[in-house]
Amino acid sequence: MTKFVFVTGGVMSSLGKGLTASSLGRLLKSRGLRVTMCKLDPYINVDPGTMNPFEHGEVFVTEDGGETDLDLGHYERFIDESLHKDSNATTGQIYSSVIAKERRGDYLGKTVQVIPHITDEIKERIRRLARENIDVVIVEVGGTVGDIEIVPFLEAIRQFRRDVGRDNVCYLHLTLVPHSLPSGEQKTKPTQHSVTELRGRGIQPDVIVCRSHEPISANLKRKISLLCDVSTDAVVAAVDAENIYEIPLMLHDEGLDDIVCRILRLDDADRQIDLSSWEALVARVSLASEVVRIGVIGKYVNLPDAYLSVVEALKHAGFHHGTKVEIDWVQAEEVTGMLAMTRLDNLDGIVIPGGFGERGLEGKIAAAGYVREHGIPCLGLCLGLHMMVVDFARNVAGMEGANSSELEATTPYPVIDLMDGQIGVEDKGATMRLGAWPAQLQPGSQVAAIYGSEVVYERHRHRYEVNPRYRDRLSAAGLRCSGTSPDDRLVEFIELPGHPFWIATQAHPEFKSRPDRPHPLFRGLVGAALNRAHERTPRLYDLDNVPS
Ligand code: GLN
Repeated sequence: MTKFVFVTGGVMSSLGKGLTASSLGRLLKSRGLRVTMCKLDPYINVDPGTMNPFEHGEVFVTEDGGETDLDLGHYERFIDESLHKDSNATTGQIYSSVIAKERRGDYLGKTVQVIPHITDEIKERIRRLARENIDVVIVEVGGTVGDIEIVPFLEAIRQFRRDVGRDNVCYLHLTLVPHSLPSGEQKTKPTQHSVTELRGRGIQPDVIVCRSHEPISANLKRKISLLCDVSTDAVVAAVDAENIYEIPLMLHDEGLDDIVCRILRLDDADRQIDLSSWEALVARVSLASEVVRIGVIGKYVNLPDAYLSVVEALKHAGFHHGTKVEIDWVQAEEVTGMLAMTRLDNLDGIVIPGGFGERGLEGKIAAAGYVREHGIPCLGLCLGLHMMVVDFARNVAGMEGANSSELEATTPYPVIDLMDGQIGVEDKGATMRLGAWPAQLQPGSQVAAIYGSEVVYERHRHRYEVNPRYRDRLSAAGLRCSGTSPDDRLVEFIELPGHPFWIATQAHPEFKSRPDRPHPLFRGLVGAALNRAHERTPRLYDLDNVPS
């Protein structure tokens, strides 16, 4: 029988429900259990693909092309399992499917209501995840208890325990234990209120995880236990961590996996936990002494969550090389003029990440050109590849005014253009090339060496591609299209022979990087950046220290 853990959050948003759920997933997996995870999002968008990254952060893409919440990225990185479209359900999806059934006549004669129709649909989505080979499904409910939109989800998970049996469900509630400013004392009242709110929806939590700056005393745990009616060992402290990959170890020390397994009757004596590889990883992170500085040239640099998987992939590569990766967020619009270029000189490498829309693209093109000419390692991702091709077309292949038709419909050289079948598409949802696609890498190319393989699968999310009409001219000028779709129609990878690392991919490799298995391209970039850091000391001068 598959077991279910429901993770809810109280007090306020952004307490780290996703990381708590992911860490629990890691712990259960390390106990030999087969785990999958899912996120229920109370917003009305059908998927986050249509949301502004400034508001919502990155859209995480699954192998099967689901455009999902960024928490799924944490899930995949922590439990090291590929998730699916079904691993993220939104209010928008749930209502769409109930309304479609109503139109089809599936409910004829009935008044279609939130209870039971919407709640049944939510439960059905959760039940679908309980495949034969899964021991535990961890379901994170987005939003905060007390939100209006969350009510149908809470009702569905409340009913779920009745449907599948007491011992098959564990309710885990995440709260905050703040300090009162005058006395510095830790306060339990927000936790009490939040649990009262949850109980008002009929759910008594089994485990309470308390976020706090400082460790929580045994006394305070007893108080929360008494007032919220959970056993003392089910009050678990989640103290701020310097590195997110430490969280599973901290929660294990607090006994989280023991208590969850006890509640779910999964606590067979012979189920030993093996955290050795995770402990080794965390130890490696804390030992790293050298620093490489990687610039991320982006449009959404004020909200680093917009590039969450890129940041994590860079960190993973750092873990591999035993170096700390320091990120310098460079606003793409500012990459012009001498000072900005000096800023690029001071970096060991750059990433030009994906993105949509016009703003800052000339800055990305200028950055691509500067690092190309100055031998600075550069990895381009999706839109990053587009901008690198535009730079090369304009400044090396003699195509003056070349551009991507995404930003200039009338360019004389649309070196990046809509792929077949995309012209005139009105519906902005899910009209992109999405999910994992194969690429054939050229033998002897840099990318083939970096991957150690000639066929690779990477995840995509874009509408525009390298225009096949200009491929020969770009190649003749020295750009190597080192990876293509197996039918050779679409360019998947480019590189510049002779440059230490000027490589781009049409895909988003950041989604497949894991803390203990960094993605080859990020590993390669950080390796090249380390070489530059070693060769290039002393730095020209440090812009942070320029006297004003
Ligand atoms: N905006 C570009 C396109 O649609 C690139 C998308 C991306 O970087 N993910 O093709």
